[in-house]
Amino acid sequence: MRKIFSAFIFCFCIASNIDAQKTVAIKCGQLLDTKSGQTLSNQVIVVRDNKVEAVVAANAFKQKTDSIIDLSNYFVLPGLIDCHTHVLLQGDITSDDYAAQLLKESIPYRTLRAARSANICLQNGFTTIRDLETEGAMYADVDVKRAINNGVIAGPRMFVATRAINTVGHYPLSPKEFNWELDLPKGIQEINGADEARKAVREQIAHGADWIKIYADRSYYQLPDGSFRGLPNFTAEEINAVGDETIKSRKKLAAHAMTRDGILAAINAGATSIEHGSGMDDECVQLMVEKNIYWCPTIFVNEYVAEGRAKAGSIINMQFKNAAPAIFTKALNAGIKIVYGTDIGGYDWNVSQAKDFEYMVAWGMNSVKAIQTATTVAAQLLDMEGSIGEIKVGAFADIIAVKGDPTKDIKLLQQVKWVMKDGIIYKTSR
Ligand SMILES: [Zn+2]
Repeated sequence: MRKIFSAFIFCFCIASNIDAQKTVAIKCGQLLDTKSGQTLSNQVIVVRDNKVEAVVAANAFKQKTDSIIDLSNYFVLPGLIDCHTHVLLQGDITSDDYAAQLLKESIPYRTLRAARSANICLQNGFTTIRDLETEGAMYADVDVKRAINNGVIAGPRMFVATRAINTVGHYPLSPKEFNWELDLPKGIQEINGADEARKAVREQIAHGADWIKIYADRSYYQLPDGSFRGLPNFTAEEINAVGDETIKSRKKLAAHAMTRDGILAAINAGATSIEHGSGMDDECVQLMVEKNIYWCPTIFVNEYVAEGRAKAGSIINMQFKNAAPAIFTKALNAGIKIVYGTDIGGYDWNVSQAKDFEYMVAWGMNSVKAIQTATTVAAQLLDMEGSIGEIKVGAFADIIAVKGDPTKDIKLLQQVKWVMKDGIIYKTSR
Protein backbone atom coordinates (compact mmCIF):
# COMPACT_ATOMS: atom_id res chain seq x y z
CA MET A 1 0.00 0.00 0.00
CA ARG A 2 2.68 2.45 0.99
CA LYS A 3 4.62 1.65 -2.17
CA ILE A 4 1.66 2.71 -4.29
CA PHE A 5 1.30 5.81 -2.14
CA SER A 6 4.90 6.81 -2.76
CA ALA A 7 4.61 6.18 -6.49
CA PHE A 8 1.52 8.32 -6.86
CA ILE A 9 2.89 11.10 -4.74
CA PHE A 10 6.06 11.05 -6.78
CA CYS A 11 4.11 11.33 -10.02
CA PHE A 12 1.56 13.92 -9.08
CA CYS A 13 2.75 15.97 -6.14
CA ILE A 14 5.55 18.30 -5.24
CA ALA A 15 7.77 15.81 -3.47
CA SER A 16 11.45 16.16 -2.84
CA ASN A 17 11.80 13.32 -0.38
CA ILE A 18 9.10 10.74 -0.92
CA ASP A 19 10.00 8.60 2.08
CA ALA A 20 9.46 11.49 4.47
CA GLN A 21 6.08 12.29 2.92
CA LYS A 22 3.48 12.10 5.66
CA THR A 23 1.17 15.08 5.44
CA VAL A 24 -0.67 16.55 2.47
CA ALA A 25 -2.65 19.79 2.41
CA ILE A 26 -5.53 19.82 -0.07
CA LYS A 27 -6.72 23.31 -0.95
CA CYS A 28 -10.43 23.17 -1.79
CA GLY A 29 -12.31 25.89 -3.71
CA GLN A 30 -15.56 24.55 -2.29
CA LEU A 31 -16.08 21.72 0.17
CA LEU A 32 -19.33 19.95 0.92
CA ASP A 33 -19.94 19.20 4.58
CA THR A 34 -22.15 16.17 4.00
CA LYS A 35 -23.28 16.06 7.62
CA SER A 36 -24.76 19.58 7.68
CA GLY A 37 -25.38 19.84 3.94
CA GLN A 38 -23.51 23.17 3.86
CA THR A 39 -21.02 24.10 1.15
CA LEU A 40 -17.95 25.85 2.56
CA SER A 41 -15.58 28.01 0.51
CA ASN A 42 -11.77 28.09 0.62
CA GLN A 43 -11.04 25.24 2.99
CA VAL A 44 -7.89 23.19 3.47
CA ILE A 45 -7.98 19.48 4.28
CA VAL A 46 -4.87 18.12 5.96
CA VAL A 47 -4.32 14.41 5.35
CA ARG A 48 -1.83 12.46 7.41
CA ASP A 49 -1.17 9.04 5.89
CA ASN A 50 -4.65 7.63 5.27
CA LYS A 51 -6.74 9.81 7.61
CA VAL A 52 -8.05 13.37 7.70
CA GLU A 53 -6.08 15.24 10.35
CA ALA A 54 -7.71 18.68 10.07
CA VAL A 55 -10.19 20.75 8.07
CA VAL A 56 -9.50 24.49 8.37
CA ALA A 57 -10.36 27.75 6.60
CA ALA A 58 -7.64 28.67 4.08
CA ASN A 59 -6.95 32.04 5.75
CA ALA A 60 -6.33 30.30 9.10
CA PHE A 61 -4.11 27.57 7.64
CA LYS A 62 -0.55 27.79 8.94
CA GLN A 63 0.55 24.16 9.27
CA LYS A 64 3.65 23.07 7.32
CA THR A 65 2.87 19.95 5.32
CA ASP A 66 5.04 17.75 3.18
CA SER A 67 3.08 18.59 0.05
CA ILE A 68 0.19 20.69 -1.22
CA ILE A 69 -2.48 19.70 -3.72
CA ASP A 70 -4.28 22.60 -5.29
CA LEU A 71 -7.98 21.92 -5.86
CA SER A 72 -8.93 25.56 -5.42
CA ASN A 73 -10.78 25.49 -8.76
CA TYR A 74 -12.73 22.41 -7.77
CA PHE A 75 -15.69 21.32 -5.69
CA VAL A 76 -14.53 18.74 -3.16
CA LEU A 77 -16.63 16.10 -1.42
CA PRO A 78 -16.13 12.76 0.30
CA GLY A 79 -15.68 9.63 -1.81
CA LEU A 80 -19.06 8.26 -2.87
CA ILE A 81 -20.54 4.98 -1.62
CA ASP A 82 -22.50 2.61 -3.87
CA CYS A 83 -24.48 0.20 -1.69
CA HIS A 84 -25.48 -2.21 -4.47
CA THR A 85 -22.89 -3.38 -6.98
CA HIS A 86 -21.84 -6.61 -8.69
CA VAL A 87 -18.15 -6.43 -9.61
CA LEU A 88 -18.34 -10.01 -10.91
CA LEU A 89 -21.11 -9.24 -13.42
CA GLN A 90 -20.65 -7.40 -16.70
CA GLY A 91 -24.19 -6.36 -17.63
CA ASP A 92 -27.11 -8.62 -18.43
CA ILE A 93 -30.07 -7.16 -20.25
CA THR A 94 -31.50 -10.56 -21.13
CA SER A 95 -31.32 -13.96 -19.46
CA ASP A 96 -29.05 -15.05 -22.34
CA ASP A 97 -26.51 -12.33 -21.42
CA TYR A 98 -26.56 -13.61 -17.85
CA ALA A 99 -26.28 -17.28 -18.82
CA ALA A 100 -23.37 -16.53 -21.16
CA GLN A 101 -21.29 -15.22 -18.26
CA LEU A 102 -22.01 -18.19 -16.00
CA LEU A 103 -21.65 -20.83 -18.73
CA LYS A 104 -18.77 -19.51 -20.83
CA GLU A 105 -16.55 -17.73 -18.33
CA SER A 106 -14.54 -19.45 -15.61
CA ILE A 107 -14.48 -17.94 -12.14
CA PRO A 108 -10.80 -16.92 -12.57
CA TYR A 109 -11.70 -15.10 -15.81
CA ARG A 110 -14.67 -13.42 -14.16
CA THR A 111 -12.43 -12.38 -11.27
CA LEU A 112 -9.97 -10.74 -13.66
CA ARG A 113 -12.88 -8.82 -15.12
CA ALA A 114 -13.96 -7.92 -11.58
CA ALA A 115 -10.54 -6.35 -10.98
CA ARG A 116 -11.29 -4.08 -13.93
CA SER A 117 -14.77 -3.30 -12.55
CA ALA A 118 -13.27 -2.40 -9.17
CA ASN A 119 -10.84 0.01 -10.78
CA ILE A 120 -13.64 1.63 -12.83
CA CYS A 121 -15.58 2.07 -9.62
CA LEU A 122 -12.72 3.99 -8.05
CA GLN A 123 -12.23 6.09 -11.19
CA ASN A 124 -15.96 6.93 -10.99
CA GLY A 125 -15.33 8.40 -7.52
CA PHE A 126 -16.93 5.53 -5.60
CA THR A 127 -14.41 4.78 -2.88
CA THR A 128 -16.64 2.30 -1.00
CA ILE A 129 -19.07 -0.32 -2.27
CA ARG A 130 -21.35 -2.95 -0.83
CA ASP A 131 -21.05 -5.68 -3.45
CA LEU A 132 -24.26 -7.68 -3.24
CA GLU A 133 -23.33 -11.16 -4.40
CA THR A 134 -21.12 -12.80 -6.98
CA GLU A 135 -23.81 -14.34 -9.24
CA GLY A 136 -22.29 -17.79 -9.41
CA ALA A 137 -18.66 -16.80 -8.84
CA MET A 138 -18.66 -18.35 -5.35
CA TYR A 139 -16.43 -16.40 -2.93
CA ALA A 140 -14.40 -14.52 -5.55
CA ASP A 141 -15.58 -11.18 -4.10
CA VAL A 142 -13.64 -12.02 -0.93
CA ASP A 143 -10.51 -12.36 -3.09
CA VAL A 144 -11.15 -9.09 -4.92
CA LYS A 145 -11.56 -7.33 -1.58
CA ARG A 146 -8.39 -8.97 -0.27
CA ALA A 147 -6.39 -7.97 -3.36
CA ILE A 148 -7.56 -4.36 -2.94
CA ASN A 149 -6.78 -4.30 0.78
CA ASN A 150 -3.31 -5.76 0.12
CA GLY A 151 -2.52 -3.22 -2.60
CA VAL A 152 -2.43 -5.86 -5.37
CA ILE A 153 -5.09 -4.07 -7.42
CA ALA A 154 -6.80 -0.68 -7.24
CA GLY A 155 -10.39 -0.60 -6.05
CA PRO A 156 -12.85 0.71 -3.50
CA ARG A 157 -13.33 -0.40 0.10
CA MET A 158 -15.54 -3.45 -0.23
CA PHE A 159 -18.27 -4.96 1.89
CA VAL A 160 -19.11 -8.31 0.33
CA ALA A 161 -22.08 -10.68 0.40
CA THR A 162 -20.48 -13.72 -1.32
CA ARG A 163 -23.05 -16.10 -2.87
CA ALA A 164 -26.51 -14.91 -1.77
CA ILE A 165 -29.27 -17.33 -0.78
CA ASN A 166 -32.44 -18.50 -2.48
CA THR A 167 -34.53 -21.66 -2.42
CA VAL A 168 -34.12 -24.56 -4.86
CA GLY A 169 -35.27 -23.80 -8.40
CA HIS A 170 -36.02 -20.13 -7.88
CA TYR A 171 -33.00 -18.48 -9.49
CA PRO A 172 -32.33 -20.61 -12.56
CA LEU A 173 -30.52 -20.05 -15.83
CA SER A 174 -33.42 -19.80 -18.31
CA PRO A 175 -34.65 -23.31 -17.47
CA LYS A 176 -36.62 -23.98 -20.63
CA GLU A 177 -33.60 -23.63 -22.88
CA PHE A 178 -31.31 -26.17 -21.25
CA ASN A 179 -31.15 -29.93 -21.12
CA TRP A 180 -32.46 -30.99 -17.69
CA GLU A 181 -29.77 -33.68 -17.54
CA LEU A 182 -27.10 -31.01 -17.14
CA ASP A 183 -26.04 -29.77 -13.73
CA LEU A 184 -25.96 -26.07 -14.58
CA PRO A 185 -24.15 -23.45 -12.52
CA LYS A 186 -26.32 -21.46 -10.11
CA GLY A 187 -26.32 -17.71 -9.55
CA ILE A 188 -26.96 -18.25 -5.83
CA GLN A 189 -26.59 -20.80 -3.04
CA GLU A 190 -29.74 -22.93 -3.04
CA ILE A 191 -31.32 -24.06 0.20
CA ASN A 192 -34.36 -26.04 1.32
CA GLY A 193 -35.66 -25.76 4.86
CA ALA A 194 -34.56 -23.83 7.94
CA ASP A 195 -31.53 -26.02 8.71
CA GLU A 196 -30.02 -25.51 5.27
CA ALA A 197 -30.81 -21.80 5.54
CA ARG A 198 -28.78 -21.54 8.74
CA LYS A 199 -25.99 -23.67 7.27
CA ALA A 200 -25.73 -21.39 4.22
CA VAL A 201 -25.49 -18.26 6.40
CA ARG A 202 -22.80 -19.91 8.57
CA GLU A 203 -20.83 -21.09 5.53
CA GLN A 204 -20.93 -17.71 3.84
CA ILE A 205 -19.81 -15.88 6.96
CA ALA A 206 -17.05 -18.45 7.50
CA HIS A 207 -15.80 -17.71 3.97
CA GLY A 208 -15.77 -13.95 4.46
CA ALA A 209 -19.29 -12.56 3.92
CA ASP A 210 -19.78 -9.14 5.52
CA TRP A 211 -23.47 -9.12 4.61
CA ILE A 212 -26.03 -11.82 3.86
CA LYS A 213 -28.12 -11.33 0.73
CA ILE A 214 -31.36 -13.11 -0.08
CA TYR A 215 -33.74 -13.10 -3.02
CA ALA A 216 -37.10 -12.79 -1.31
CA ASP A 217 -39.49 -12.89 -4.28
CA ARG A 218 -39.87 -13.67 -8.00
CA SER A 219 -42.43 -13.90 -10.85
CA TYR A 220 -43.67 -10.34 -10.51
CA TYR A 221 -46.85 -9.13 -12.17
CA GLN A 222 -49.01 -6.02 -12.25
CA LEU A 223 -52.70 -6.09 -11.33
CA PRO A 224 -55.32 -4.01 -13.22
CA ASP A 225 -55.35 -1.50 -10.33
CA GLY A 226 -51.65 -0.80 -10.99
CA SER A 227 -50.32 -2.59 -7.90
CA PHE A 228 -47.61 -5.27 -8.11
CA ARG A 229 -47.46 -8.77 -6.71
CA GLY A 230 -45.06 -11.70 -6.89
CA LEU A 231 -44.32 -15.06 -5.36
CA PRO A 232 -42.40 -15.42 -2.10
CA ASN A 233 -39.28 -17.57 -2.48
CA PHE A 234 -39.01 -18.78 1.11
CA THR A 235 -41.34 -20.30 3.66
CA ALA A 236 -41.62 -18.22 6.83
CA GLU A 237 -39.44 -20.80 8.62
CA GLU A 238 -36.71 -20.53 5.98
CA ILE A 239 -36.52 -16.75 5.69
CA ASN A 240 -36.78 -16.29 9.47
CA ALA A 241 -33.94 -18.79 9.95
CA VAL A 242 -31.77 -16.78 7.54
CA GLY A 243 -32.58 -13.53 9.36
CA ASP A 244 -32.10 -14.99 12.83
CA GLU A 245 -28.77 -16.62 11.99
CA THR A 246 -27.54 -13.43 10.29
CA ILE A 247 -28.44 -11.18 13.22
CA LYS A 248 -27.06 -13.65 15.80
CA SER A 249 -23.78 -13.56 13.88
CA ARG A 250 -23.72 -9.73 14.13
CA LYS A 251 -24.22 -9.39 10.38
CA LYS A 252 -26.93 -7.64 8.43
CA LEU A 253 -29.43 -8.89 5.89
CA ALA A 254 -29.99 -7.29 2.49
CA ALA A 255 -33.11 -8.50 0.71
CA HIS A 256 -33.80 -8.37 -2.98
CA ALA A 257 -37.56 -7.81 -2.77
CA MET A 258 -39.69 -6.24 -5.48
CA THR A 259 -43.25 -6.62 -4.20
CA ARG A 260 -45.11 -6.88 -0.90
CA ASP A 261 -44.78 -10.67 -1.18
CA GLY A 262 -41.03 -10.39 -0.66
CA ILE A 263 -40.76 -7.07 1.16
CA LEU A 264 -43.05 -7.93 4.09
CA ALA A 265 -41.46 -11.36 4.57
CA ALA A 266 -37.98 -9.80 4.51
CA ILE A 267 -38.94 -7.11 7.02
CA ASN A 268 -40.40 -9.76 9.35
CA ALA A 269 -37.15 -11.73 9.03
CA GLY A 270 -35.13 -8.70 10.17
CA ALA A 271 -33.78 -7.32 6.90
CA THR A 272 -31.80 -4.08 7.22
CA SER A 273 -32.21 -3.03 3.60
CA ILE A 274 -34.73 -3.68 0.85
CA GLU A 275 -33.08 -3.84 -2.55
CA HIS A 276 -35.03 -2.51 -5.58
CA GLY A 277 -38.51 -2.54 -4.00
CA SER A 278 -39.79 -1.46 -7.41
CA GLY A 279 -43.37 -2.56 -6.74
CA MET A 280 -43.69 -1.57 -3.09
CA ASP A 281 -47.16 -0.57 -1.89
CA ASP A 282 -48.35 1.80 0.85
CA GLU A 283 -48.17 -0.81 3.59
CA CYS A 284 -44.53 -1.59 2.70
CA VAL A 285 -43.68 2.12 2.72
CA GLN A 286 -45.32 2.61 6.11
CA LEU A 287 -43.63 -0.41 7.67
CA MET A 288 -40.21 0.55 6.33
CA VAL A 289 -40.57 4.04 7.82
CA GLU A 290 -41.74 2.63 11.18
CA LYS A 291 -38.93 0.07 11.37
CA ASN A 292 -36.19 2.38 10.01
CA ILE A 293 -35.43 0.06 7.10
CA TYR A 294 -33.23 1.35 4.31
CA TRP A 295 -34.45 1.38 0.73
CA CYS A 296 -31.87 0.92 -2.02
CA PRO A 297 -33.96 1.77 -5.10
CA THR A 298 -31.47 0.96 -7.94
CA ILE A 299 -33.33 3.15 -10.42
CA PHE A 300 -31.24 3.38 -13.57
CA VAL A 301 -30.62 -0.37 -13.95
CA ASN A 302 -34.35 -0.92 -14.48
CA GLU A 303 -34.46 1.83 -17.12
CA TYR A 304 -31.43 0.20 -18.74
CA VAL A 305 -32.93 -3.29 -19.07
CA ALA A 306 -36.64 -2.43 -19.56
CA GLU A 307 -36.73 -2.06 -23.33
CA GLY A 308 -34.43 -4.99 -24.12
CA ARG A 309 -36.39 -7.31 -21.85
CA ALA A 310 -39.69 -6.13 -23.35
CA LYS A 311 -38.35 -7.01 -26.80
CA ALA A 312 -37.36 -10.42 -25.44
CA GLY A 313 -40.96 -10.92 -24.25
CA SER A 314 -40.97 -9.71 -20.63
CA ILE A 315 -42.78 -6.43 -19.99
CA ILE A 316 -42.52 -6.30 -16.19
CA ASN A 317 -39.47 -3.99 -16.16
CA MET A 318 -41.34 -1.58 -18.44
CA GLN A 319 -44.23 -1.63 -15.95
CA PHE A 320 -41.84 -1.00 -13.04
CA LYS A 321 -40.28 1.83 -15.06
CA ASN A 322 -43.66 3.50 -15.59
CA ALA A 323 -44.52 3.19 -11.88
CA ALA A 324 -41.08 4.26 -10.59
CA PRO A 325 -41.44 8.07 -10.33
CA ALA A 326 -44.67 7.90 -8.29
CA ILE A 327 -43.37 5.16 -5.97
CA PHE A 328 -40.10 7.05 -5.41
CA THR A 329 -41.88 10.31 -4.63
CA LYS A 330 -44.29 8.56 -2.25
CA ALA A 331 -41.44 6.83 -0.38
CA LEU A 332 -39.43 10.07 -0.26
CA ASN A 333 -42.35 12.06 1.15
CA ALA A 334 -43.09 9.33 3.69
CA GLY A 335 -39.52 9.66 4.99
CA ILE A 336 -38.01 6.27 4.08
CA LYS A 337 -34.24 6.14 4.52
CA ILE A 338 -33.08 6.08 0.91
CA VAL A 339 -29.57 4.80 0.32
CA TYR A 340 -27.62 5.02 -2.94
CA GLY A 341 -27.24 1.78 -4.87
CA THR A 342 -26.94 1.30 -8.60
CA ASP A 343 -26.85 -2.47 -9.29
CA ILE A 344 -23.97 -1.71 -11.69
CA GLY A 345 -22.70 -4.97 -13.11
CA GLY A 346 -26.40 -5.62 -13.71
CA TYR A 347 -25.67 -2.94 -16.30
CA ASP A 348 -22.50 -2.26 -18.23
CA TRP A 349 -19.53 -0.97 -16.21
CA ASN A 350 -18.78 1.46 -19.05
CA VAL A 351 -22.02 3.33 -18.28
CA SER A 352 -21.96 5.97 -15.53
CA GLN A 353 -22.31 4.84 -11.93
CA ALA A 354 -23.75 8.24 -10.98
CA LYS A 355 -26.92 8.05 -13.11
CA ASP A 356 -29.24 7.28 -10.20
CA PHE A 357 -28.60 10.76 -8.74
CA GLU A 358 -30.23 12.30 -11.80
CA TYR A 359 -33.45 10.34 -11.32
CA MET A 360 -33.59 11.01 -7.59
CA VAL A 361 -33.33 14.76 -8.17
CA ALA A 362 -35.75 14.72 -11.12
CA TRP A 363 -38.29 12.90 -8.92
CA GLY A 364 -38.20 15.47 -6.14
CA MET A 365 -35.18 14.84 -3.95
CA ASN A 366 -33.07 17.82 -2.98
CA SER A 367 -29.61 17.44 -4.60
CA VAL A 368 -27.73 17.67 -1.27
CA LYS A 369 -29.99 14.93 0.12
CA ALA A 370 -29.26 12.86 -3.00
CA ILE A 371 -25.52 13.20 -2.31
CA GLN A 372 -26.16 12.24 1.33
CA THR A 373 -27.72 8.94 0.18
CA ALA A 374 -24.26 8.07 -1.17
CA THR A 375 -22.29 9.51 1.75
CA THR A 376 -23.67 9.93 5.29
CA VAL A 377 -26.71 7.65 4.91
CA ALA A 378 -24.68 4.94 3.18
CA ALA A 379 -22.05 5.18 5.93
CA GLN A 380 -24.79 4.58 8.54
CA LEU A 381 -26.03 1.51 6.66
CA LEU A 382 -22.49 0.11 6.63
CA ASP A 383 -21.84 0.94 10.31
CA MET A 384 -19.06 3.27 9.16
CA GLU A 385 -20.54 6.56 10.31
CA GLY A 386 -17.82 9.18 10.79
CA SER A 387 -15.18 7.02 9.05
CA ILE A 388 -16.45 7.33 5.48
CA GLY A 389 -18.99 9.58 3.74
CA GLU A 390 -17.69 12.67 5.54
CA ILE A 391 -14.54 14.76 5.41
CA LYS A 392 -13.90 15.26 9.10
CA VAL A 393 -11.09 14.76 11.57
CA GLY A 394 -10.36 11.05 11.97
CA ALA A 395 -12.23 9.94 8.85
CA PHE A 396 -10.46 7.95 6.15
CA ALA A 397 -8.99 10.23 3.48
CA ASP A 398 -11.51 9.23 0.81
CA ILE A 399 -11.89 12.46 -1.16
CA ILE A 400 -13.07 13.35 -4.66
CA ALA A 401 -13.32 16.53 -6.71
CA VAL A 402 -15.52 17.71 -9.57
CA LYS A 403 -15.48 20.82 -11.73
CA GLY A 404 -18.53 22.98 -10.90
CA ASP A 405 -21.13 22.65 -8.16
CA PRO A 406 -22.92 19.26 -8.09
CA THR A 407 -25.49 20.61 -5.62
CA LYS A 408 -26.65 22.85 -8.49
CA ASP A 409 -26.05 20.34 -11.31
CA ILE A 410 -26.15 16.74 -10.08
CA LYS A 411 -24.94 15.43 -13.47
CA LEU A 412 -21.45 16.72 -12.60
CA LEU A 413 -21.05 13.65 -10.39
CA GLN A 414 -20.81 11.69 -13.64
CA GLN A 415 -17.50 13.44 -14.32
CA VAL A 416 -15.35 13.02 -11.24
CA LYS A 417 -11.97 14.58 -11.96
CA TRP A 418 -9.84 13.68 -8.95
CA VAL A 419 -9.94 10.72 -6.57
CA MET A 420 -8.11 9.93 -3.33
CA LYS A 421 -8.85 6.77 -1.36
CA ASP A 422 -7.20 5.96 1.95
CA GLY A 423 -4.74 8.82 1.38
CA ILE A 424 -3.66 7.54 -2.05
CA ILE A 425 -4.37 9.48 -5.23
CA TYR A 426 -5.92 7.33 -7.98
CA LYS A 427 -7.12 9.94 -10.48
CA THR A 428 -5.82 13.33 -11.52
CA SER A 429 -7.50 13.97 -14.89
CA ARG A 430 -7.90 17.69 -14.26
ZN1 LIG B 1 -28.23 -6.67 -7.78
